Amino acid sequence: MSDKHGVIVVGGGIMGVSAAYWLAQKGQAVTLLDQYDIPNQWAASGDHLRVFRLTYGKDAFYTDMALKTLPLWLDLNTQTGEKILQQNGVLELATVSHGYEEHSLNVLKELKLPVQRLEKNDLKRHYPMINSRAVKWGLFHKDGGMLWASKAVTHLASLAQRKGAKFRSRVKITQVLRDKKEGIRGLKDEHGRLHVGESYLFAGGMWTPELLKSYGIPIKVTRQYQLYLRPPANRGRYRPEHFPVFASLAAGFYGFPLHLHGFMKIGDHRKGPIAKPGKGGETELPQAFEKKCRAFLKRFIPELTNFTEYEGHVCHYDNTKDDDFILDRLPDAPNGFIAAGFSGHGFKFGPLIGKTMADLVVGGKPELNLHRFRLGRFKRR
Ligand SMILES: Cc1cc2nc3c(=O)[nH]c(=O)nc-3n(C[C@H](O)[C@H](O)[C@H](O)COP(=O)(O)OP(=O)(O)OC[C@H]3O[C@@H](n4cnc5c(N)ncnc54)[C@H](O)[C@@H]3O)c2cc1C
Repeated sequence: MSDKHGVIVVGGGIMGVSAAYWLAQKGQAVTLLDQYDIPNQWAASGDHLRVFRLTYGKDAFYTDMALKTLPLWLDLNTQTGEKILQQNGVLELATVSHGYEEHSLNVLKELKLPVQRLEKNDLKRHYPMINSRAVKWGLFHKDGGMLWASKAVTHLASLAQRKGAKFRSRVKITQVLRDKKEGIRGLKDEHGRLHVGESYLFAGGMWTPELLKSYGIPIKVTRQYQLYLRPPANRGRYRPEHFPVFASLAAGFYGFPLHLHGFMKIGDHRKGPIAKPGKGGETELPQAFEKKCRAFLKRFIPELTNFTEYEGHVCHYDNTKDDDFILDRLPDAPNGFIAAGFSGHGFKFGPLIGKTMADLVVGGKPELNLHRFRLGRFKRR
């Protein structure tokens, strides 16, 4: 038995659904397949929240990408009537004078974007819960905020379907059939069913190395812990109206205001232990991580340290060596494309990446310069 389609997208995370949306928008016949539901809790895009920030230290390329993505998120807000991107601002706590935050400040200023440098006294006044003694200064940019991740996937999926895209969940692709002349000639699922399209886009997140095993895609998966906690006191002041997304990249941690039944979330951005792709999603946390969270809070937001109500969450990064993404055509496959390797910072660019991949698939010229994201760069090094 076989199914015939135009473009087949494998993977219903943010990258797959936004590519399906843009392909359908361009009038392409699109079918999206996912091994689980869309969204699902095991995918990196299946979590509640992700950070949207314009700050990338000296790396103005990513700032520019975030700027290009911003109107696309705002358009999604308009189309859905919901705040998928909630711009409650991002506050970055600098612990050194001339580090990442200062570079970010300079880039944002050069681009004439709204950004504030908050000295210790300003921090005390605006955010009395923050221990200003632990911080040299703070960078606040109001365009940043929080992205409701799984909601974004749900909405983009239904918008894509309204434009004619077909979505099929619980179809796991186990084999990519290749032909030297034609490129990819079909996909087999775990039940032996053949799925044939004219082109194929693989957006399989952490499962990509397995999905494209014959291509040897250099992605390493790491296990990342996050902790949901209910503030033991003064809950009201951690609401998103009063409290921004916060981060101290030097300390490794980032966090969100209250967003879920009175819980806020903190996570460690540094790479966790190497893991095998699989069904993470556990809520048990290693004690060592809980201890690290308490130490971070004790240093930066002391009144949160002695939280008693909490829950863990495990998620995975799909890392490349240089933390740049892989957005490219597959080697020896004129009809095969890959969007993967988002290295723990891809969500914020989802709509732009979907648009870019849709352009690539239909043979158009993407707005984004893809040189930095070529698959071939790993061979050259
Ligand atoms: C803890 C954590 C915090 C993060 N924080 C941020 C942040 O604050 N800001 C930010 O911008 N980014 C952040 N990221 C990164 C961001 O979440 C990811 O880059 C993004 O969600 C990746 O989306 P994706 O579509 O590539 O992959 P996924 O969302 O993982 O989706 C891949 C999909 O492919 C499907 N699939 C895989 N293999 C197959 C197969 N063989 N057959 C069928 N279907 C298949 C899977 O079921 C899955 O649904 C974070 C990531 C994590 C884990």
